[in-house]
Amino acid sequence: MLRFILHYGFHFIVPIAVGLFFYRKNTVLVVTILLSAIIIDMDHLWADPVFDPNRCSINFHPLHSYLAIGVYFVLFLLRKTRIIGLALLLHILADTIDCYLMS
Ligand SMILES: [Zn+2]
Repeated sequence: MLRFILHYGFHFIVPIAVGLFFYRKNTVLVVTILLSAIIIDMDHLWADPVFDPNRCSINFHPLHSYLAIGVYFVLFLLRKTRIIGLALLLHILADTIDCYLMS
């Protein structure tokens, strides 16, 4: 239960906090982009079973693969797509923490 709260807390609270503290100009836009990174969890729909609380997402689902994470890093390094990259990396970080708590 604690893990569940931590995981979803991280998925929602961290993006809001980052938007508020680091992007004072376009806070609402940035927070919206950061929160929308949750859509990469769509790749869970291709997995069987769709939801398994004891499965680590990292490198299991296509959008959570090391290759995908590499792409997110590139997006983060490029100025124009930095926020999108940041959003995706924060999502991966949340999932990674979840995997550690699992073991
Ligand atoms: Zn995920």
